[in-house]
Amino acid sequence: MRAVVTGAAGFIGSHLSAHLLAAGDTVIGVDSLTDYYAPALKARNLRELTPHPAFTFHRADLLEADLAALLDGVDVVYHLAGQPGVRPSWGREFALYDQRNLLASQALLEAARGRPLRKFVYASSSSVYGEAPIFPTPETVCPRPVSPYGVTKLAAEHLCELYRSAHGLPSVSLRLFTVYGPRQRPDMAFARLIAAALSGASFPLYGDGEQTRDFTYVLDVVSAMRDAARSRFTGVANLGGGSPVSMKQAIAAVEHMVGPVNLDPRPGGLGESRHTGADISLAARAFGYRPRTELLDGLAAMAAHAAALRGSVIG
Ligand code: NAD
Repeated sequence: MRAVVTGAAGFIGSHLSAHLLAAGDTVIGVDSLTDYYAPALKARNLRELTPHPAFTFHRADLLEADLAALLDGVDVVYHLAGQPGVRPSWGREFALYDQRNLLASQALLEAARGRPLRKFVYASSSSVYGEAPIFPTPETVCPRPVSPYGVTKLAAEHLCELYRSAHGLPSVSLRLFTVYGPRQRPDMAFARLIAAALSGASFPLYGDGEQTRDFTYVLDVVSAMRDAARSRFTGVANLGGGSPVSMKQAIAAVEHMVGPVNLDPRPGGLGESRHTGADISLAARAFGYRPRTELLDGLAAMAAHAAALRGSVIG
């Protein structure tokens, strides 16, 4: 299949591109390399993809790119480009969330409608749920985001659903639950925890550490994205790891694996849900989703990758 991957230089997008290439697909990657975190890290992610003969890359902002030309002859669009991060989405920065999560998605959907696409796969987020009333949380729960980031992810998801019902676009919105693994964004908890354990720097722990997250390994996520694209399913589905753990438990696991972490307790972040936990039965039924990676195995792979990179920088 011929696929466009937006956000191809990012954490999940680079893993997805590698997965699609390994499965024999042709991949057209698009990314503007925003400075939400160091563009050099994104350039490094791309270096693992560019040698592949079936990979082409366009450095472009979705709001400025010639999307019609980009989507010509494409079977599947995987839309991962966006402005992540819950805490920074308050205040003036919101304009970036509006542009990169909502307006960019609308531009892409508009360019996609009327084309013979097999699937339009959107990377939505567990943050649409806010403080969910039920755990594990099924897709039928009314989403009530508690962060501006979550509001933009939900609004774009509604647009995907609207283009599906109004224009017959075969869209799938996958609500990803805290994705982790090698190359994780440096602002995310596991990446910061491992970096703190390796360097001795302190780790700001927001809240009491009893908050739980349904951590999901990145390779489970990207193979599910391709499976969803090849299935008959359209609509909204959760992708969670299947076994939520508390931040305290996650910290203990990193300390056991990498070394002690110097904690710097801070008040809980406004906009952070207290608990997340996915009911994954719909994804299991619809496209055979089954998370395969245990937290300790995934963390070990991530820690080994971080240590190797650190070694190569120091060396
Ligand atoms: P990331 O920041 O590593 O990747 C996003 C990429 O999109 C970046 O490389 C950025 O440069 C690019 N981008 C942003 N705006 C763009 C635009 N207008 N045009 C072109 N490129 C643009 O983030 P990630 O963690 O890999 O997340 C990927 C997607 O998955 C995001 O949409 C995010 O909201 C969603 N998601 C991630 C998680 C997670 O745990 N990482 C959880 C839920 C949802």
